Amino acid sequence: MPSARHEKLDVLIRRAAIEKRVHAVARQITADLKGQRVHLVGVLKGACIFLSDLVREIGLETSIDFIAVSTYGAGNESSGQVRMLKDLDSSIAGLHVVLVEDILDTGLTLSYLLRILRQRKPKSLRVAALLDKPSRRVKKVKADYVGFTIPNEFVVGYGLDYAERYRNLKDICILRLPPPDVLAERIPEP
Ligand code: 5GP
Repeated sequence: MPSARHEKLDVLIRRAAIEKRVHAVARQITADLKGQRVHLVGVLKGACIFLSDLVREIGLETSIDFIAVSTYGAGNESSGQVRMLKDLDSSIAGLHVVLVEDILDTGLTLSYLLRILRQRKPKSLRVAALLDKPSRRVKKVKADYVGFTIPNEFVVGYGLDYAERYRNLKDICILRLPPPDVLAERIPEP
């Protein structure tokens, strides 16, 4: 993909490997919740592509809903605040819920979501995360299903963005930004 901003993309996980792994996670969910209806809750926006591929491979009765949150200070602070931007459309009481996340990083978002969703009394609550960066964890949370464990790199593609761009990449890529001095050189002098 051409980059007018001197950003560089290095492929980390190819589309074929993603597809294979998403199918495997779907099979595992199908086996674990055999005979039940599964209610998938996608965390917007990053999980939308993962969820749409995952749900089509689950061999059970399904329903879907979405929730959106934003996290402040998650970069390096344990005090990151999570705020709800969009709540679920319907109740999850009595349902077998699988929360579908794009990436588990510090764990602040997931620990907030687990806390509020547990209060709503689902019959069961599981977590499927496409990616996991365990080295960055601040909160002690784990996903029941993990697509790939990755190193501490900033990744984009397959739903994950940088400033809303790159969500449409079919591969998951490491985004390399130009060093600050290169950026400074490109800012015209007054
Ligand atoms: P956490 O609360 O676990 O620190 O952060 C989870 C959220 O941070 C993710 O849902 C995602 O939106 C964002 N995030 C964390 N790491 C990355 C990354 O490498 N790439 C992108 N695009 N977003 C990330």
